[in-house]
Amino acid sequence: MPTVTPASIPAAALADVQRQVYWLDRPGAPPLCPPLTSAARADLVVVGGGFTGLWTAIEAKLRDPSCDVVVLEGGRVAHGASGRNGGFISESLTHGLAHGLANWPDEMPTLLRLGRQNIREMAAFIDDLGIDAHLTLTGKTVLAVTNHQVAGLAPSHELHEQMGEQSVLLDRDAVQADVHSPTYRAGLRVRSGSGLLDPVALVWGLLRHALTLGVRVHEDTSVVRIDRSQRGVVANTAHGAVEAKSLVLATNAFPPLLRRLRSYILPVHDHVLVSEPLTPQQISAIGWSESQGLTDAGNQFHYYRRTPDDRILFGGYDAIYYFGGRTSPDLEQRESSFQLLASHFFSTFPQLEDLRFTHRWAGVIDTTSRFTPVFGTAYEGRVAYAVGYTGLGVGASRFGAQVALDLLSGIETERTALGMVQQRAVPFPPEPMRYPIVQATRAALAREDVSGRRGVWLSLLDRFGVGFTS
Ligand SMILES: Cc1cc2nc3c(=O)[nH]c(=O)nc-3n(C[C@H](O)[C@H](O)[C@H](O)COP(=O)(O)OP(=O)(O)OC[C@H]3O[C@@H](n4cnc5c(N)ncnc54)[C@H](O)[C@@H]3O)c2cc1C
Repeated sequence: MPTVTPASIPAAALADVQRQVYWLDRPGAPPLCPPLTSAARADLVVVGGGFTGLWTAIEAKLRDPSCDVVVLEGGRVAHGASGRNGGFISESLTHGLAHGLANWPDEMPTLLRLGRQNIREMAAFIDDLGIDAHLTLTGKTVLAVTNHQVAGLAPSHELHEQMGEQSVLLDRDAVQADVHSPTYRAGLRVRSGSGLLDPVALVWGLLRHALTLGVRVHEDTSVVRIDRSQRGVVANTAHGAVEAKSLVLATNAFPPLLRRLRSYILPVHDHVLVSEPLTPQQISAIGWSESQGLTDAGNQFHYYRRTPDDRILFGGYDAIYYFGGRTSPDLEQRESSFQLLASHFFSTFPQLEDLRFTHRWAGVIDTTSRFTPVFGTAYEGRVAYAVGYTGLGVGASRFGAQVALDLLSGIETERTALGMVQQRAVPFPPEPMRYPIVQATRAALAREDVSGRRGVWLSLLDRFGVGFTS
């Protein structure tokens, strides 16, 4: 996207921004679950208290109410990606239709059915428990902001129709009649398959429900090592260990406790801004009456949405990988990424020139080379993992939790028989090769965004099944 906005506008808009996650900046957090202080035993220990970990704990209790489940969370629940995301929820388990078809053409009907069932069941669960997560399955609009993106919309529309999704091609006038932006040249309004929610309301709701079911949750309790034991496995922490028959690793992009996961997961920082609430005049200046999620069609894309209190959340584009896979709170405050994001915001909505941003944060996306999670077992089948949602885990994490429990049961299910579960992703090379390869790929993706041509490097990666086939 061209950056035509004078630098003074984003700078002024960011002048008073808080370095805080918007979703977490409110009252109503559940009380801290007491840290582990002594040795304990359980049937199942879950490491990680984000969506994957909490869905795993709840699902384990639903499958067997007598199962004694302990969740160990290194910080607070929702402090990882589950509390920092855009709140886009998608039925897709494959990071989109084209990507799924490119990788698992024969399994696509099953993957689509399972993905749809997952969101249907999730919506019913949220409804039954009365979790106020503002879930709306309004679909999304994909926006073309360059001519080659316009050309890509018609095949995408056809694919959506073939796969039973509801989509409508919008020309420049139609797309702008819906959401008013001078950058939009065309759009694809996809009414099915996705929606929006408030991710922290969901995480907190899951936590409360898990506690009601008798799950023991310990926050501020980092697992430092996993060992074998006679009974199964031991999750060691600084102040005690939990011995259990089995363990699920739901640690996403955090430093993995299993060595092999280091080669599958690339931690990439993604940046997000949230504005102050819009006035009725500002809302009418942009339209957007259906409040669906918006995303542009580039490799380096923005995702944006309205929040329940009429702010705009605007994220994406400038995804940053640091040498050695470093992550830290300092790296979450990369000034230039926020300035760039703000400048893109005002290119998109110049009519909102006076709007100010109130919140900014970054989160770590757990990227795999095939853009879908990796699943597997270790320690003779006593440990299972489900990590690597590559920025699309709000819905898929519930499916990931089910896969992890299926794998621990040792019984083949429709889920565990999937190629997506059985096959390993292509591993990322170790450092010092990894960093330059990531940078070269990023530069090639940026070039494609400008030229519309895939180029030699990306075509080569496509042949090895690495990256995004759009
Ligand atoms: C900025 C951003 C925007 C995103 N937007 C979207 C979106 O709009 N839609 C979408 O579908 N997806 C989105 N995602 C991705 C989505 O948020 C994740 O895929 C999903 O939250 C993954 O959930 P999780 O439980 O696996 O991981 P997390 O939420 O990261 O949870 C992992 C937990 O494990 C804990 N942990 C790690 N190591 C240890 C240890 N050793 N001991 C104890 N605890 C440990 C961590 O503290 C953390 O709480 C986004 C991600 C980011 C970062």
